[in-house]
Amino acid sequence: MPGKNVSKAGPLSPDEVVLREELRANVQKLAGEIGERNMWHYTQLNAAADFIEDSFSRAGLRSRRDSYEIRGQTCHNIEAEISGSRPESIVIGAHYDSVFGSPGANDNGTGMAATLALARRFASAKPKHTLRFVAFVNEEPPYFLSGEMGSLVYAGRCKAHGDKIFAMISLETIGYFSDAPNSQTYPSPGLGLFYPKIGNFIGFVSNVHSRALLRRVIALFRKHAKIPSEGASLPAFIPGVSWSDQWSFWQHGYPAIMVTDTAPFRYPYYHSSNDTPDKLDYDRFTLVVSGMEKVIQELDK
Ligand SMILES: [Zn+2]
Repeated sequence: MPGKNVSKAGPLSPDEVVLREELRANVQKLAGEIGERNMWHYTQLNAAADFIEDSFSRAGLRSRRDSYEIRGQTCHNIEAEISGSRPESIVIGAHYDSVFGSPGANDNGTGMAATLALARRFASAKPKHTLRFVAFVNEEPPYFLSGEMGSLVYAGRCKAHGDKIFAMISLETIGYFSDAPNSQTYPSPGLGLFYPKIGNFIGFVSNVHSRALLRRVIALFRKHAKIPSEGASLPAFIPGVSWSDQWSFWQHGYPAIMVTDTAPFRYPYYHSSNDTPDKLDYDRFTLVVSGMEKVIQELDK
């Protein structure tokens, strides 16, 4: 259909059209085919882990399962590493579980789909820093912000190994956009005075400690990306700021940021059974991911 590839955010390049179809297929696999995936749907959780491992492998990457147990059931973070020559690494990650009662297309089929697509795009790169693409298990409640949260287990092991991580990027719910008036809300009324009321942008969020990384990433993103962006480094107690895997890295002193469409402050199907693949805006989702590809390339310089 003419004009179908043209989003209000800017047209997709031929390469981005390929990326969009890869993202769409990944979301469809996770949320459309496998569906709800968590400790109550353990077979599906493991099917998602198998799909992620297989996807890394098809990209030519060897992955490693970083496993732990919860009440006798094994859970897996999955990591694919592209070695660099410098001692510091960049971690790009997303959680692959979905909240109870939801197929999790946007939360977080999108973040996981993006992590897999980015890994494929860097698979034959020769980066200066080691790039790690990580799929985290058990981000959603009741594991959320607990010792059994996959990313907290992973970040703790990084710390114990003495890993030097200079940037962690958490991709969390990045596929929903709206041009409707007042489609964007905020965790506190004060923030609404400073930020747009239309949910057509991608958000970058960090705690105060990771502000330098946040500013750098936003500057790089704006240099290349064809979609509006907003950034905020805020105290971690403000609702939403800590709500994903970047929090786990903060607990161990690593700089980390979250890329997000702001989830509950915009997406009408957040944490519901209606968080299905058809709700997403794949063109703008793609522009976020292609922008992040450039960010990672430049962070590595
Ligand atoms: Zn999430």
